[in-house]
Amino acid sequence: MPKYSLVIPVYNEESTIPELYHRVSTVMDGLDDTSEAIFINDGSQDRTLQLLRELHDRDERVVYLSLARNFGHQIAVTAGLNYIRGKAIVILDADLQDPPELIPELIALWRQGYHVVYAQRTKRVRESWFKRLCAYAFYRILKQLANVDIPTDTGDFCLLDRQVVDLLNQMPERNRYLRGLRSWVGFNQIAFKFERDSRFAGEVKYTFAKSFALAINGLVSFSSVPLRLSTYLGLFSAVVAILMAILVLYWRIFTPHSTLTGFATIAIAIFFLGAVQLISIGILGEYIGRIYEEVKNRPLYTLSEVGHQKPRSSQPPDRSRSSS
Ligand code: UDP
Ligand code: MG
Repeated sequence: MPKYSLVIPVYNEESTIPELYHRVSTVMDGLDDTSEAIFINDGSQDRTLQLLRELHDRDERVVYLSLARNFGHQIAVTAGLNYIRGKAIVILDADLQDPPELIPELIALWRQGYHVVYAQRTKRVRESWFKRLCAYAFYRILKQLANVDIPTDTGDFCLLDRQVVDLLNQMPERNRYLRGLRSWVGFNQIAFKFERDSRFAGEVKYTFAKSFALAINGLVSFSSVPLRLSTYLGLFSAVVAILMAILVLYWRIFTPHSTLTGFATIAIAIFFLGAVQLISIGILGEYIGRIYEEVKNRPLYTLSEVGHQKPRSSQPPDRSRSSS
């Protein structure tokens, strides 16, 4: 049983894997106890899986899972968490934006008794201003709306104690926003400040659409304030309508020669109310869609290949279906 496990999701990362392995294995060599690195191939179309097989043949500490298609980063990490066996578990990105060299420092904090050590970015090196602005705004909105205290500017780079991972593995939800779930469990948590490097090679795999979907997921999973928003919008339009009615009556009674045609007023009112209703339905839809996803209760992911030397005695990935 390795003491330390590294969980690394990879999606089309053929250009970073050699350097990643080099840096991660150096860190693992320096650790005081046994370790494993589990790579989760999230349906890559390039040579990623082939490279992982080679690493696994070369180094028995390397374990890999291959998902049968692209399930997304959060699910890939979940698959890894279902599978690992370590006492302290570190999640990091494959693109070396989360420096593996910091792992010993995370472990030192874990030894002091912290169950969750989450890395908090102090600086984002060379990311576009648009992405930085969106991230900045999102984390602050989430902090205001969420019903658990989710720290700002934290990614998935963190160390988790076995106890916390066991709890995460018991959570059946499909729309997984791991940073939120990680805060939700509680225990002793501490921030670890670091400067986020820029991507080592290759393209960003989180497209704007994926990041946006993740952000909505975070909001909807941890807050029901958006639902209340439609009530507020409705109340607001009611107040506007009453004021307008008073104004129109006043004009009718006290200014007999007013030429109140009213077309613009009616058009604006119709569009405004239409917009309020559509927004409200959209917000409702976000929640109902998620209920539907949860109710279907499909497995979170499907595995097409597992690279592990010895067959495992227990079967922790109970929500997955393995075909090999
Ligand atoms: N990733 C993944 N599945 C996806 C998208 C990304 O497993 O569908 C992995 C990717 O290989 C990387 C990590 O998630 O290890 C973060 O992705 P990326 O660096 O592109 O995003 P960002 O740094 O902008 O969060
Ligand atoms: Mg990255």
